[in-house]
Amino acid sequence: MNAFESIPESCDVVVIGGGPAGSHVSTLLAQRGFDVVLLEKARHPRPMVGESLIPHFWKFMDMSGVTPKVEEAGFLSKAGGITVWNGRIHQFSFRTFGYNRPALHVERDVFDHILLKHSASCGTQVFEEINVTGVDFSDDKPVVQYSSLQGDSRGSGRIQCRYVVDASGNSTVLAKQFKSRQLVAGKRTFLGMWGYFTGNNFVGEDGSSYGPESVGKVQPVTFISSHEDGWAWHIQLRDKVSVGLIINTDRVKRMGKKEQEAYFLETVHKIPYFRELLAPATYLEDSMAFRPDYSFYSTKLAGKNFGCIGDAGAFVDPIFSHGIQAALYAGSMCAWAAESSLGRPDRAENYGRLLQTRLRQHYGFSRSLALGDYGGDGVDPALVIDLMKSMPLVELEMMLVASDISNRSTNFHEMARQAGFMEDDFAQGVMSGKAKVLESLNV
Ligand SMILES: Cc1cc2nc3c(=O)[nH]c(=O)nc-3n(C[C@H](O)[C@H](O)[C@H](O)COP(=O)(O)OP(=O)(O)OC[C@H]3O[C@@H](n4cnc5c(N)ncnc54)[C@H](O)[C@@H]3O)c2cc1C
Repeated sequence: MNAFESIPESCDVVVIGGGPAGSHVSTLLAQRGFDVVLLEKARHPRPMVGESLIPHFWKFMDMSGVTPKVEEAGFLSKAGGITVWNGRIHQFSFRTFGYNRPALHVERDVFDHILLKHSASCGTQVFEEINVTGVDFSDDKPVVQYSSLQGDSRGSGRIQCRYVVDASGNSTVLAKQFKSRQLVAGKRTFLGMWGYFTGNNFVGEDGSSYGPESVGKVQPVTFISSHEDGWAWHIQLRDKVSVGLIINTDRVKRMGKKEQEAYFLETVHKIPYFRELLAPATYLEDSMAFRPDYSFYSTKLAGKNFGCIGDAGAFVDPIFSHGIQAALYAGSMCAWAAESSLGRPDRAENYGRLLQTRLRQHYGFSRSLALGDYGGDGVDPALVIDLMKSMPLVELEMMLVASDISNRSTNFHEMARQAGFMEDDFAQGVMSGKAKVLESLNV
């Protein structure tokens, strides 16, 4: 990854985890001249789910300067989304909103590796196969403890630093240490379960299906359908399709891996339209994986010398493909907070509080968008309303349209109304003018 061979004993900032959040924050801080060490448990490229990117993500690529490398990778551009939700079919295209850069379907192993290598090229010292086991905050300077997963000479060790960023994703290293992780379940607990197929058909913007020979010629949409126990996605990639189910945990919790896989295959082949799209497809053996403890948030997201960003701070149902851009947003905010705290240690507590508020605000937005009908754990409506008033209008418009396709939008719409965005003209223009209702699909 880079020329650094031994892990230093001290530095300015330690970043735990090299997913999109960790790579982004470390890039920004290294570019600002800080001595940054990133410790990553896996060796990249490593497998990861979450392949659908909404167009807002480009602004973060521009911010870190990685745009040319992402463009060069040649990921599949997608046109928009089609959803079948409780029998209603909606279609929307990103260009209707005025986006002039494409949304993408990315192989996450490739995409995440590009961001991590970019961070290293900007000066971050990246060490892979290093597992962070905890952080000692008893001194003003945190001490990060780690062990090598390779059993090599690096063994286990400690790094003293001035600021720690937890970007460890679902591992939530600091939230577990702080015991601040809350599961967002309401009355039901969900899990995500996914696998990959080749030789499948996919859905284009016009609602018709296309065969594998059209990949790269016809832009796919992210195709979503509700089913009796949750919802499902179909995300076309360059050489395979990612298909996933969000389901009630009770369905599979007593099953072994083989039974779960059989359940997954049977269920995806039963969902209308998925059945037809997958009819000619071959399942990639053993590709099924799942994510339990589905939605959560941490009540302690930042302090004077730490920030928890991306999935390490909170995770919500990914129905609107918000996860990566939320991770990148949090990375940008955290870079600002870390730089400010290191520059003015006397004001570090304040910057910590500001970061906590910004992260909660953004989380509250994603949370009320995705899980709008489950109550509002961890959501401060006043913060979400403020964010709606200050975010780029095109982004809010797209999220309002997206929120109208499921039955989860009540809270979100109420907050948009309080922010002044659900007046008749705006609501009608956005909600009906920018999403089409289709009678059926030609699949
Ligand atoms: C089923 C599912 C579908 C999704 N679909 C989408 C989608 O379509 N679009 C979208 O935008 N988002 C989607 N998401 C969400 C998206 O994948 C995440 O929000 C995103 O990966 C968050 O990035 P991150 O950097 O915070 O975490 P991650 O990408 O999880 O990266 C964390 C990194 O930390 C490393 N790590 C973990 N523990 C340690 C440790 N102890 N020490 C050192 N390193 C450690 C891991 O190896 C990993 O590389 C989906 C998520 C799920 C579960």
